[in-house]
Amino acid sequence: MADASMGTEVETFAFQAEINQLLSLIINTFYSNKEIFLRELISNSSDALDKIRFESLTDKSKLDLQPELCIRIVPDKVNKSLSLIDTGAGMTKAELVNNLGTIARSGTKEFMEALQAGADVSMIGQFGVGFYSAYLVSEKVIVTTKHNDDEQYVWESQAGGSFTVTRDVSGEPLGRGTKVTLFLKEDQLEYLEERRLKDLVKKHSEFISYPIYLWTEKTIEKEISDDEDEETKKEEEGDDEEVDEEKDKKKKKIKEVTHEWELINKQKPIWMRKPEEVTKEEYASFYKSLTNDWEDPLATKHFAVEGQLEFKAILFFPKRAPFDLFDTRKKMNNIKLYVRRVFIMDNCEEIMPEYLGFVKGVVDSDDLPLNISRETLQQNKILKVIKKNLVKKCIELFYEISENKDDYNKFYEAFSKNLKLGIHEDRQNRAKLADLLRYYSTKSGDEMTSLKDYVTRMKEGQKDIYYITGESKKAVENSPFLEKLKRKGYEVLFMVDAIDEYAVGQLKEYDGKKLVSATKEGLKLDEESEEEKRKKEEKKQSFENLCKVMKDILGDSVEKVVVSDRIVDSPCCLVTGEYGWTANMERIMKAQALRDTTMSSYMSSKKTMEINPDNGIMEEVRKRAEADKEDKSVKDLVLLLYETTLVTSGFSLDDPNTFAGRIHRMLKLGLSIEEDETGGEYADLPPLEEQGNEESKMEEVD
Ligand code: ADP
Repeated sequence: MADASMGTEVETFAFQAEINQLLSLIINTFYSNKEIFLRELISNSSDALDKIRFESLTDKSKLDLQPELCIRIVPDKVNKSLSLIDTGAGMTKAELVNNLGTIARSGTKEFMEALQAGADVSMIGQFGVGFYSAYLVSEKVIVTTKHNDDEQYVWESQAGGSFTVTRDVSGEPLGRGTKVTLFLKEDQLEYLEERRLKDLVKKHSEFISYPIYLWTEKTIEKEISDDEDEETKKEEEGDDEEVDEEKDKKKKKIKEVTHEWELINKQKPIWMRKPEEVTKEEYASFYKSLTNDWEDPLATKHFAVEGQLEFKAILFFPKRAPFDLFDTRKKMNNIKLYVRRVFIMDNCEEIMPEYLGFVKGVVDSDDLPLNISRETLQQNKILKVIKKNLVKKCIELFYEISENKDDYNKFYEAFSKNLKLGIHEDRQNRAKLADLLRYYSTKSGDEMTSLKDYVTRMKEGQKDIYYITGESKKAVENSPFLEKLKRKGYEVLFMVDAIDEYAVGQLKEYDGKKLVSATKEGLKLDEESEEEKRKKEEKKQSFENLCKVMKDILGDSVEKVVVSDRIVDSPCCLVTGEYGWTANMERIMKAQALRDTTMSSYMSSKKTMEINPDNGIMEEVRKRAEADKEDKSVKDLVLLLYETTLVTSGFSLDDPNTFAGRIHRMLKLGLSIEEDETGGEYADLPPLEEQGNEESKMEEVD
């Protein structure tokens, strides 16, 4: 439909598919907690006001079209509509089309999944799709908006797959800002009640830092005398007689309806108050309004820094990690920066290090200039000092939480990755952060242990702290690498988080003790007597020949084959170079689809096969190899040992079928099934060298 004469045209757009699904879910599923729509819309308004206020700091003229910054709420019982009007930045036509319907936020899908998994609809704001909560209560929504750089436009939709956008030529001019009008469903008319709206604003939006006005209706009963009537009568009658005495009796009551804007949020900023005067509930409700979280914070720190530099801050740790904690596309920053009570920005990357990106809160500086720009922030010395202080306070808070075991367990479950990232990133605080680490170990039982506790349990003569990295606790706790260490009674920490590999690589030592990997070369455990050394040397020599034979059979798959010092029961293990990747790291790197493949050629584990001279299998293989170098069974056994060891040492099998083939052949042997009877399906398994080549081909490809 086009109205050429007015130059307006109704354009219809289809909602992006995921948004459309989200809308159906919102409309068709029963949620009792519908009231949150108001908080979401007010929060959008507040964001838009923040935006224009920030722009106006460097360019005052941005406020010309509308100098006042506020939010107004207008219930209209006649039309059964509720309007929210803000004087924020507004949206250009393009923004209107993109933001409200054609481009889905990354959180859209996640939110739907969360909902279907039983999450509460009140979490919507966390996923960045809060606007659509309007459809919890509305049949139809109209958004009118005016941006400084564009004309006024109207967006309209009853959901159902599409929305329209039209230039607004006849509507009341907004000046600048956005008006969202909700046409309420028949059963949602409670949101037109003043009392309900006031309560909701108090409950969910109390800390919005712009005035929120409610269009209130007051009916006053006014007693008026019939004076006017009288006078007209008198005039008509031309009667000048005084009737003073009778006046009182003639008064009558009439109802007069008046309207006025009532300010419904009157709080002064909570961070300006003294900490001892703020209740826990107030902090919690401030936290919720700040973050859209539906739960109370896990921990809170409200403090003021005074002296050369002054600022006030409140920091919160949430109870759980957000769905996109380490989403690198999203610049995480949850600290709102204010300068002398004026909101400046909430995505200032310089204010918190990445590993503390989960910390939420506000900082209000007395020293920063009001018209600070993003560019100058980067070099700003004041901001550097603020950052240092915030980090210090966060670490204090970590320690406070760690005093309560239950709280700390919860916290650790959610944010241990952040601590470990901190170890990796924050050299200055590395030692302090190390005390906060917790690991399961060969001796920890069901509870995790700190490094400090580990040290108190160290055996006499134990110089180093031992750890093993791997995919899971289960995968490492029975690893052959631990045999000797266990026998000696040395505790081994299980580092089974991918990030542990990075963190431990930086940490290197704790309390003057080296952190030593149980799976890498150079693990020295024994202080041996001369006699033991001599015996060992003899054993070693008797196995030297086998080591050569094995290296010949295994080819480039291994760097070398040596007699082991660390295994007690297993026949062999595969260790990696002290400075290269562990098996676990190799697994992690292979899993990274976008990794830089140039690294893998030199970091990829150079494997050393370590054999256990005390193991019966090895002894038998040694004998056979001695008797006949060309013995086919030796080759088969060595290959099978190698492949099995790959698995027990935490590597992945590049060709599991060949491995299975070898096992099956062994099974048949054990079951005395003749190879020929089944057609010899595994008769010509490829020797391992070929596999080796295949492996390197694979490397190049991925
Ligand atoms: P968000 O979490 O980003 O607010 P929403 O779905 O609530 O997600 O809103 C989508 C986008 O629409 C916002 O990011 C903003 O750009 C725009 N928007 C919503 N409400 C307003 C408003 N009152 N004024 C200006 N822009 C708005």
